[in-house]
Amino acid sequence: MKEESEILNYPWGHSRRFNAYSNYFRRIYGGRIQKVSIDAGFTCPNRDGSVGTGGCTYCNNDAFNPSYCSPDKSISAQLEEGILFLKKRYRQPIGYLAYFQAYSNTYAPIEKLKLLYEEALSFPEVIGIIIGTRPDCIDMKKLNYIKELSLKYFIAVEYGIESCYDRTLKRINRGHTFDQAVEAIKLTSGMGINTGAHFILGLPGESKEDMMNETDIISDLPLNTVKFHQLQIVRGTRMEKDYLARPEDFNLFSYEDYIDFFVGFLEKLNPAIVVERFTGEAPPEFLLEQRWNRKRTDEIVRHIEKELERRNTWQGRLYKTKDKSKK
Ligand code: SF4
Repeated sequence: MKEESEILNYPWGHSRRFNAYSNYFRRIYGGRIQKVSIDAGFTCPNRDGSVGTGGCTYCNNDAFNPSYCSPDKSISAQLEEGILFLKKRYRQPIGYLAYFQAYSNTYAPIEKLKLLYEEALSFPEVIGIIIGTRPDCIDMKKLNYIKELSLKYFIAVEYGIESCYDRTLKRINRGHTFDQAVEAIKLTSGMGINTGAHFILGLPGESKEDMMNETDIISDLPLNTVKFHQLQIVRGTRMEKDYLARPEDFNLFSYEDYIDFFVGFLEKLNPAIVVERFTGEAPPEFLLEQRWNRKRTDEIVRHIEKELERRNTWQGRLYKTKDKSKK
């Protein structure tokens, strides 16, 4: 075990026991940065028929869209309302990141992307953008443009990957394979663009061991940031039907179970990857069942940090760097 003096010297340069997103921005900008979500009216190839119809089985974007987000409003109007809302709720940050969150935010001709992204970037107080999208919605033309923007602003592309297993991706109707995800991540990161990924823990057919093994796969990807959330069954989705028909296929975590699992997961995760989220919190009215007694994200983060401390462990303690000489 590490001595206390060494513990204050984690590779990410602060004393929290994981490579936290908020601290990452403090390191870059010297203060707190806040994200503001935007719904820019995109759709998704997995809904409009070009890749699939019906979308991913768990998908209901309304469950994650803050109330100030609406494609009926301009980007500037959403930013204005969003910033006003966040100012009342949180301590004043030193800048905002416009988060193109709903649906697939690179799924449009480049001329349209330019208009939308640049409207956000011209908003006072906005220092950059985060672009949430699918691995099959990117090409060199778009990446070259994003790269150009990233020379002036903070820009990140965040891919929904959800699982490292093709059998799961098929079952949840993602409409892409894990190899496609790896290719998009490598391409984006290889161009020097900040690259993030999102994963869901608890998808049908995955055992805890399967999920735990994902840490090795994720750790090997050239990612700057990663987000995880526990599977929540959202009412009205195809996954709700799947769950009600075959509950035995689902490994839905109890709260205590998740804390225990996630601490083990963090221990194996590459310490160089910044962890943005541990959990998701869909509004209770969207959920089929209340499993975690309405725990808030900040409570969960505190609990995970306490557990890391109790076990005297940290992100990457059990991470095994691959010996590249042995091929
Ligand atoms: S890719 Fe995203 S927006 Fe499209 S169906 Fe899946 S979760 Fe929904």
